[in-house]
Amino acid sequence: MARQYVYGFGGGESDGDASMKALLGGKGANLAEMAKLGLPVPPGFTLTTEVCSSFYANHRKYPGELAPQVEAALASLEKKSGKKFGDAADPLLVSVRSGGRASMPGMMDTVLNLGLNDQTVEGLAKLSGDERFAYDSYRRFIQMYSDVVLELDHGAFEEALGAHKDLQGYRYDTEMNADDWKQVVAQFKKIVARERGKPFPSDPKEQLWGAIGAVFASWMNDRAIFYRKHNNIPESWGTAVNVQAMVFGNMGDTSATGVAFTRDPSTGDRRFYGEYLINAQGEDVVAGIRTPKPLTKAARQAMGENELSLEETMPGVFAELTRVYQSLESHYRDMQDLEFTVERGKLYMLQTRTGKRTAKAALKIAVDMVGEGLISEKEAVLRIDAMQLDQLLHPTIAQNSHRDLICKGLPASPGAATGAVVFDSDEAAQLAGEGKAVILVREETSPEDIHGMHASKAIVTARGGMTSHAAVVARGMGRPCVSGAGELRIDMKANVFKVREREIRKGQIITVDGSTGEVLFGAADMVQPELTGDFGTLMEWADRARRMKVRANAETPEDAKTAVRFGAEGIGLCRTEHMFFDAERIAGVREMILATTRDGRVKALAKLEPHQRQDFRDIFAIMGARPLTIRFLDPPLHEFLPHTEEDCEDVAKATGLDPRALLARSKELAESNPMLGFRGCRLAIVYPEIYEMQARAVFEAALDVAEQTAAAPIPEIMIPFVIAKRELDLIKARVDAVAEAVFAARKRRLDYSVGTMIELPRAALLAGEIAQTAAFFSFGTNDLTQTTMGLSRDDAGKFLGAYVENGVLAHEPFVSIDAEGVGELVKLGVQRGRAARQDLKLGVCGEHGGDPASVAFFERVGLDYVSCSPYRVPIARLAAAQAALANRPD
Ligand code: PEP
Ligand code: MG
Repeated sequence: MARQYVYGFGGGESDGDASMKALLGGKGANLAEMAKLGLPVPPGFTLTTEVCSSFYANHRKYPGELAPQVEAALASLEKKSGKKFGDAADPLLVSVRSGGRASMPGMMDTVLNLGLNDQTVEGLAKLSGDERFAYDSYRRFIQMYSDVVLELDHGAFEEALGAHKDLQGYRYDTEMNADDWKQVVAQFKKIVARERGKPFPSDPKEQLWGAIGAVFASWMNDRAIFYRKHNNIPESWGTAVNVQAMVFGNMGDTSATGVAFTRDPSTGDRRFYGEYLINAQGEDVVAGIRTPKPLTKAARQAMGENELSLEETMPGVFAELTRVYQSLESHYRDMQDLEFTVERGKLYMLQTRTGKRTAKAALKIAVDMVGEGLISEKEAVLRIDAMQLDQLLHPTIAQNSHRDLICKGLPASPGAATGAVVFDSDEAAQLAGEGKAVILVREETSPEDIHGMHASKAIVTARGGMTSHAAVVARGMGRPCVSGAGELRIDMKANVFKVREREIRKGQIITVDGSTGEVLFGAADMVQPELTGDFGTLMEWADRARRMKVRANAETPEDAKTAVRFGAEGIGLCRTEHMFFDAERIAGVREMILATTRDGRVKALAKLEPHQRQDFRDIFAIMGARPLTIRFLDPPLHEFLPHTEEDCEDVAKATGLDPRALLARSKELAESNPMLGFRGCRLAIVYPEIYEMQARAVFEAALDVAEQTAAAPIPEIMIPFVIAKRELDLIKARVDAVAEAVFAARKRRLDYSVGTMIELPRAALLAGEIAQTAAFFSFGTNDLTQTTMGLSRDDAGKFLGAYVENGVLAHEPFVSIDAEGVGELVKLGVQRGRAARQDLKLGVCGEHGGDPASVAFFERVGLDYVSCSPYRVPIARLAAAQAALANRPD
């Protein structure tokens, strides 16, 4: 049997259903499902994503079976709708839309009103009894088709329309009558013939194939490629194309169009929420050209809005919409995002999909739905996007902060951020690349602004509603956003925005509160996030479900406190060299590194020791009975050597040594490949006194805290950059000797362990031997990635993007573990290590410890814990739970 490339839906039946998202795309699968449920869906058919894949695999040619299948589907659509394609009396008009497996809002092309020509427009005029409407639809179609399919410059059309209005003395499109639109249509056709060298296609079938081709081609436009890259959507998925009978929300005052969420997508509150416009087409709501009105009376009253809600203007339609949304939510058992159109008092559903929501809403909806018996705790845990939690872990504006209000708009995406004003997306991306915090202020945003929005800390728009492009995209990205700040006037030429008398220039600092809709002048005081409530409940369920422990990478008391507050069960990596970064101490470290004699080094170390001991004391006190893994000194030399004469002067002042001699020594020590140089335990093999000082500081501090508090600290001493068992043997013997000396002097003992990092391929390969000495392994996947792949951690960013874009690598390997390469070494290390020592404790402390995809990998290979930066701890807790649940057979 020939492969099925086209799936029909409508009239109470469908070829497909909601489970077929990969083949039919999200939109097509859900239209099929809604039609099956008997909901009012205009009939149509879907060309599968396989057509798209085949199109690109075969030099943009369709499979041979496609054309006859489209013909058959079209015939069936004509039957279901009772209208005929190209029929001058009762024409079938269709929309042609993209619809991939994952939603890519606004990234691909759409054509509406397809099927109109000089004959069918007359039929539409008669049927609707509204000639003005028919010709307005016709000119919209020509404009859209010329832009999307024929790829003509849309400026010429706008100019022609503008010239016509000027001639007639009109200001608004609403002043245009049927004859005006007829003349504009004639003008538009002339433009097409001139630009294209051929007339505008009048055959509806030719129009249809043109639109189908354009939608498939839009899968590869720049916007779509950028969006896919940032949302990890594989190119191989392709898009489906949905062809559906048109319904018109712009057939007068009994027609309307709107979007709705079955619960509030910002807060998660269980209330029907959405916006609509009377006498408008769907695109008008999303584009933010007219500001839509609330659906419910309650929302209208809460906003102090005078124009009536759908509930008040069309109570019958509202009642049916209420029945539909309730049945869709209980059918899908999740919050839905709906699009609907009312054509002359009759409701049609055009889309349903799982609604995008803020992290706060996601938690509330998941926890509420467990309470309502709709979903299980396990489903709730699996449903939350772990990375999205990040939105909740950042500061918001303090209640008592001073607030210099510039203006107010809609609270489109929650959270607060401070940054410098920019008006241009390219500039936002450039400044962010230089490490500056920027806030993008725009009239409204379009898909062309994606990179600027991504680079900005927050977004403000003057126009657009809660479902405008800016609002939807910002919520998805977790950027605070204020939309529709109506008083704001942007003067791009002068690089300022004005609100009444006030002027804010580019580069000035503002604060955006996306939870209240406020835009404030200057930097406001921020408060730390709230970790109780729904967040606490969900994390409790996650903690019950997970197997791996979660620790944090922290070396300051402040980070250690944050880690504990976020639920870290220990510290998995305390980088001791980071404890010496501050100006006062770095001179001591430099003195130690530059010393040419043992005595010189011992003197420098003696200066550092009290600082170390105090630092460890502070952190042990915070961690109580939680383990603290202290990684002994691993200073890649280039990070610590004095670079300038000034640096040498500072060391000279602190030590009384000759600055010229210091500079000469520093040149002598400089390395060509410091990342592969004299670092980690190599330092201690040559200069054992360095780790001896650190060991003494650890044991003294641990005993100090044990004596002063009830908790017994758990020091785990971790030796970095090991490639051989012998290195560890030599160092461990010294550490044990220091421990014995301290315990004897203090007349008190303490449990401790000595383990190692596995961060070089040789260490992974020789894990069996190394485990005979090491009590634990912590995989240092930063260096392990660097050395396995031969990629510099510091420099590879410059070209890794191209590697991902060209499909050489599936993702950036320093962000998410390269499971097939680096991961194999981790697996080998685990197997060989465990075979040698059954109770070997295994963890990871590279940056990958906080990346959900990597956490899933670490669960599969059976690590005992992951360790990540403190702000990532909740993300890792949830990701670990999800990984454990995914691995569990039930
Ligand atoms: C690592 O290499 O993964 C690691 C955690 O150590 P560092 O980043 O300090 O080199
Ligand atoms: Mg390392």
